[in-house]
Amino acid sequence: MSHSLVTIFYIVAAVLFILSLGGLSNQETARRGNMFGMIGMLVALIAVISSDAVTSYGILAAALFPAVLIGGALARKVKMTQMPELVAILHSFVGAAAVLVGLALQLNPLSHKALSPIELTIHNIEVFVGVCIGSITFTGSVIAFGKLRGQISGAPLLLPARHILNLIIVFATVWLGILFVGHSDNAITILLIAMVITGILGIHLVMAIGGADMPVVVSMLNSYSGWAAAAAGFMLGNDLLIIVGALVGSSGAILSLIMCRGMNRSLPSVILGGFGTGDGGGGSISTPDGEVISIDVAGTTALLKKAKSVTIVPGYGMAVAQAQHTIAKITKKLRKNNTHIIFAIHPVAGRLPGHMNVLLAEANIPYDIVMELDEINHTFPATDVVMVIGANDIVNPSALDDPNSPIAGMPVLEVWKAKDVIVMKRSMGTGYAGVGNPLFFNENTSMLFGDAGENVDAILADL
Ligand code: NDP
Repeated sequence: MSHSLVTIFYIVAAVLFILSLGGLSNQETARRGNMFGMIGMLVALIAVISSDAVTSYGILAAALFPAVLIGGALARKVKMTQMPELVAILHSFVGAAAVLVGLALQLNPLSHKALSPIELTIHNIEVFVGVCIGSITFTGSVIAFGKLRGQISGAPLLLPARHILNLIIVFATVWLGILFVGHSDNAITILLIAMVITGILGIHLVMAIGGADMPVVVSMLNSYSGWAAAAAGFMLGNDLLIIVGALVGSSGAILSLIMCRGMNRSLPSVILGGFGTGDGGGGSISTPDGEVISIDVAGTTALLKKAKSVTIVPGYGMAVAQAQHTIAKITKKLRKNNTHIIFAIHPVAGRLPGHMNVLLAEANIPYDIVMELDEINHTFPATDVVMVIGANDIVNPSALDDPNSPIAGMPVLEVWKAKDVIVMKRSMGTGYAGVGNPLFFNENTSMLFGDAGENVDAILADL
């Protein structure tokens, strides 16, 4: 394919990626956005494969086909609840790719042989920045994968001199960068040392972040992976990779800010770590206790039938129980009964930004009855029944009442203001942030213990 045709394909792909991001910003257009993204990626692949950048189709096929087979098989097998960890590990691949591209360019004398001194300096900066961002993204994402999978504890690792350690690594990286760009004889050794220490920084940054801050970490790593891709684009002189990387990098950064706002946190305080540790106020964290009122399925159905207004609060447990389809059927039945029913979504509910919106959309819950935190909180005092399905941290009043709580300051859904609250979960266990929840001991709260999937099936049958 001629160079100008490749450029046209790149422009078409870039436009499709922008349309894709635009579509994904709204539930009603998200499917279309996804489709644009897939077509854009196909166009980009065709353009790259048929460009003169590819010198051996044999090597390309050997790299591409096993990847397509392994990726396809894993994607078919992955459960919805495993999506967050899948996303985290995919971010790590982007980081690893940027590191490998940088090392390969450095090891290939042809890549910088004919460059003028200025061009060589720019080339070296691209390689150094690409390898460092790639390395942080790779190790940080692997740790995030382990934390989301539960293989690494969600509790933050707080080394005594953690901020000094981070600063030393940052200064050492800048110093190595100056040496590297200044055409040192030991360029590859310097690059490898920088790769290792920025890798340690990635591990340390994510290890220091507590459970409740993980949503911001996931979106931040998403942003890093974009910048790593953009850096790879600069190294390879590929305009499309630069555009796509910048789109992912900046949209990930915007998402991080949105998640921070949702948790009432500032980005620097998340990056510096420590949230979710209980070290916020210095005092002791109160452990909620008291009498718990249980309810059975028949009692729940009776309350639902009587209620004029019902709000459903879905959380991570709904994703685990895959209860959304039955909940959609219950919603239909209640609406036929003239019950005013709405869904309340917290920005960090579940384990991925937008997790609950995706599940509710999958079950065809009408978008106009799905409300965000700030739209719904004032309505709870006028609500008859709130049904909390597998949610915990996002309805924890200690975020507002207890300054020593590890989640103090995080806005939560104030469900306790409703007349009756039913909480569906299997035990008195804590949520992802590991914090006890006083809501369960309130007089107007009834606990419907058991798997949320089985319980909603029974409620539907009863209704
Ligand atoms: P939580 O993790 O706080 O609580 C989920 C609850 O669901 C658990 O207490 C559990 O209780 C219950 N549960 C699990 N399985 C079932 C089941 N089969 N049936 C019934 N109940 C079940 O989830 P929330 O959605 O309330 O809050 C999200 C948390 O995850 C926040 O702390 C957030 O910061 C964090 N997070 C969010 C991310 C995001 O991007 N959204 C990313 C990473 C972390 P039990 O075991 O007793 O059943």
